[in-house]
Amino acid sequence: MQAKIRRTFAIISHPDAGKTTLTEKLLLFGGAIQMAGSVKGRKAARHATSDWMALEKERGISVTSSVMQFPYEDKIVNLLDTPGHADFGEDTYRVLTAVDSALMVIDVAKGVEERTIKLMEVCRMRNTPIMTFINKLDREGKDPIELIDEVESVLGIQCAPITWPIGMGPRLKGVVHLLTGEVHLFESGRNFTRQDSTIFPSLDDPGVLDAIGQNMLDEVREQLELVEGATNPFDMEAYLRGEQTPVTFGSAVNNFGVQLLLDFFVEHAPMPQARETTTRKVDPTENKLTGFVFKIQANMDPQHRDRVAFMRICSGKFTAGMKAFHPRVGKEIKLANALTFMASDREIAQDAFPGDVIGIHNHGTIAIGDTFTEGENLAFTGIPNFAPELFRRARLRDPLKLKQLQKGLAQLSEEGATQFFKPMMSNDLILGAVGMLQFDVVAYRLKDEYGVDALFENVNVATARWVRCDDPKKLEEFVNKNALNLANDAAGELVYLAPTRVNLNLTQERHPEVQFLATREHA
Ligand code: GDP
Repeated sequence: MQAKIRRTFAIISHPDAGKTTLTEKLLLFGGAIQMAGSVKGRKAARHATSDWMALEKERGISVTSSVMQFPYEDKIVNLLDTPGHADFGEDTYRVLTAVDSALMVIDVAKGVEERTIKLMEVCRMRNTPIMTFINKLDREGKDPIELIDEVESVLGIQCAPITWPIGMGPRLKGVVHLLTGEVHLFESGRNFTRQDSTIFPSLDDPGVLDAIGQNMLDEVREQLELVEGATNPFDMEAYLRGEQTPVTFGSAVNNFGVQLLLDFFVEHAPMPQARETTTRKVDPTENKLTGFVFKIQANMDPQHRDRVAFMRICSGKFTAGMKAFHPRVGKEIKLANALTFMASDREIAQDAFPGDVIGIHNHGTIAIGDTFTEGENLAFTGIPNFAPELFRRARLRDPLKLKQLQKGLAQLSEEGATQFFKPMMSNDLILGAVGMLQFDVVAYRLKDEYGVDALFENVNVATARWVRCDDPKKLEEFVNKNALNLANDAAGELVYLAPTRVNLNLTQERHPEVQFLATREHA
């Protein structure tokens, strides 16, 4: 069964912990790329095709996320890349709705960092199972036992060490696999595969003593006793519930510990899981195709103005050219020329299965959160829009370009990184974002892709809330009283733009019949 062999995951980490390096090594094991350095190379190639990404390059950040599929052992692994920069948290959030598990990378010297904490909170909301890789063991770092303590207390998740380091930094000798007992030696420049690594069946093997010396051997044995007393053994159920994280150690740049991690990952990480919709739970073993869109990327090729909707398949089978029902629009569409992401290139998809992601070309008909089915009227839930925290008013240098500006803002907000508001009582165009950098990206792209020179200036808005009220009369009253602070978002939904938090609190108190929502579910 195809769903059973799928492993769909994302890497979460603080910038610089080694996500890109680890991704590259994982792809190497999957045979997806031939040469180390190709992940960076691939990024560079994309820059060439899409100019706005020059901005991304300038800033040394990864703004967009993509999908990489590779086979390993008897499994098919889908790795969904998450944007690295903190400003793109919302985008990252939605990628995490499309995976079945996550891999958390932690820098051994820096320990748990701020971005990791945030990403972990997101995983928590959905009880996503998480594995942990402690990276950069070739450098001097924190004591592993203290680090485990830190993960447990700061992130509030139980740790179960799967491997344990023998030394660290210049004294790094290898790792012990706590489940098999095997000792894997660290040999700089080797360790690419099991075949060219030195592996002993246990710490008691005389070869280990020769390789690491008596002092180190005593030290490790002592540590392992402590570890056994201080940590929990691996518990598959607790891992799947998101309550325990199995921990491995290594050095991505040296390819050390990466294969151990991957072996453990494909064996234990969950297959595609059942998912909630507005009407029922959809099981991955069902025969009919269902899926949802978690990401839109516009103008991947500026020559063609195309937009690609990334759809995670939840059940059934996708075959090239098939038709699918688009419940939000109430129409069937042909999924022609869908993309898959095998290896490092985009290819035309022949077929795809639960856990896989396909890219569907469209001209703006598909939105983030949309469901596709084979006729059934249902919608996957749990892909929210967050209320933005930062607001700017768009101002044109050339007032004649208003139409293009509106079009550009509307289309770019469909990608989900920014939100676009039209106040009821003025002609302003207000853009909301969760991070400052997004305004720069939008300004750059407006110029590059729409030929519009726009400025973003301060506006007196502190926060936004989607407004709901079951009583149409009360809603009307509320709208009449507060029209100055009300706006419509790109989807036409009513939003309250509060000039201050205090104002929001007061308005909420005055209108207990009205709901003020900080997130809006894509319906
Ligand atoms: P990302 O921002 O999380 O994608 O991190 P990168 O993969 O780009 O790595 C950040 C930096 O750490 C780069 O200079 C890498 O070469 C370096 N790095 C990654 N893994 C290791 C490692 O195992 N040991 C050491 N010493 N450096 C590493």
